Amino acid sequence: MTLDQAKEKLAAYEKTTFAYEHAMGILYYDGSTAAPRGSAGIRASTLGELARLQYNLTTAPETVEMLETLRAADGLDSITARKVSELWRNYDQTRRIPVDLFVGHQTLCSESEAVWTEAKPANDYAAFAPYLQKIFDSTRAIAACIDPDRDPYNVMLDQYERGLDTDTCDAFFSALRTRLVPLIEEVCAHADRVDDSPLCRHFPIAVQREFSDYLMDVMGIDKNHCIIGETEHPFTANFSRHDVRITTHYYADRLASSLYSVVHEGGHALYELNTAEELVGSALGTGVSMAIHESQSRFYENIIGRSQAFCALIFPWLREHFAPTLDDVDAEQFWRMVNRSTPSCIRTEADELTYALHIMVRYELERKLLAGDLTAADLPEAWRQAYHDYLGIEVPDDRSGVLQDSHWAGGMVGYFPSYAIGSAYGAQFLREMEKTVDVDAAVRFGTLAPINAWFAERIWRHGCMIDPGELFASVCGKFDPMVYTDYLEKKFRGVYGI
Ligand SMILES: [Zn+2]
Repeated sequence: MTLDQAKEKLAAYEKTTFAYEHAMGILYYDGSTAAPRGSAGIRASTLGELARLQYNLTTAPETVEMLETLRAADGLDSITARKVSELWRNYDQTRRIPVDLFVGHQTLCSESEAVWTEAKPANDYAAFAPYLQKIFDSTRAIAACIDPDRDPYNVMLDQYERGLDTDTCDAFFSALRTRLVPLIEEVCAHADRVDDSPLCRHFPIAVQREFSDYLMDVMGIDKNHCIIGETEHPFTANFSRHDVRITTHYYADRLASSLYSVVHEGGHALYELNTAEELVGSALGTGVSMAIHESQSRFYENIIGRSQAFCALIFPWLREHFAPTLDDVDAEQFWRMVNRSTPSCIRTEADELTYALHIMVRYELERKLLAGDLTAADLPEAWRQAYHDYLGIEVPDDRSGVLQDSHWAGGMVGYFPSYAIGSAYGAQFLREMEKTVDVDAAVRFGTLAPINAWFAERIWRHGCMIDPGELFASVCGKFDPMVYTDYLEKKFRGVYGI
């Protein structure tokens, strides 16, 4: 194969791969939002077949020949060279997994997620447990294929955040625990200073939907390329900068729930919507890793969305459109309410201060499940014990416990640490950003444009051109979790006046 032939082949390969991924993504999104309940079985089968086509293309002899030709070539432009190294890495991992295991895993994940979707509202862990056990067994088998000499959990961490391992996670979580546990105790001792009960009044869902629309405008999300749907568990589905879908879940008596889901998923959407046009349709045209992705979503959700400036900006809309429900509240009180810190059961609704403890619980449990040191049958008890030990609370039922998240049901094992690391990255991004952008003034003025522009230039436009650790270092230098704990300490001392 000549170099020119290989380049042509690469273009055709990218187009087909993108089509498979686009189709699989749309089917997944449809299954989570609009598809009838009885369609799960046929969808799982279709997704399995698409995974088989994708596998066959990834490992086809002509794909390997194309990549080998390009790898041997001199003077490739930087984008092509990066595409080749990423595709080779993908091929090298995929070829180690037998096709039946690869396809079977995809089908299992679809089936498992459908069972979870029914089991969660029904609080029926017994129905879901066999699937969860199979997910961990199948994931362990895949990790062993990818690298038999490595701890399977490290293999999985690396899938979501390249270079991340349990040594880094252990040191990171230990540093967080040392600083946060006494701070949380101090805040809890002053719990009576913040009353957030007005957020649990009645907020009609029709008005909350209008509010989501307003929030997307405030964030500068291009609604020509991004829409919002409704699901049990909010998520972002991204296909390219031309098509991003975010979802939320509305509760009439929990205003903050959808508000911060939309701002969180909106942060993911901004990242995807702003990758460089020249990367669209290739393996590089998406966010580079889950910790970098979560650093963006959690930055918008918490550092911006739960700031005094943002609360002052959005509060007049809330007060007017939900009148008279919030007539006895002002923007300053609203800011304290949305930052009320208290140990609770639900991760996605946890305050910024206790959030990392929820991640630590999941980190420790999924590590044990993957190692085979814990079974799905014993998980609910281990979960309850961990919440008791880490957060000091009793979990009343599995719906508020082990069934709450969709990640494991969908096969995402090794993803959770990304949330905590991403949150810590966010504090360092803020510190850097404030050197050139008056963040507070921009938000108060009603525009996130200077913040979006800062991220677009440093993070978003690069897509997968730069490895995540290197990308972070290029903006912030060395990763230092203490910047995050300092940020939390300052913020929560302010909220509680302690
Ligand atoms: Zn997220």
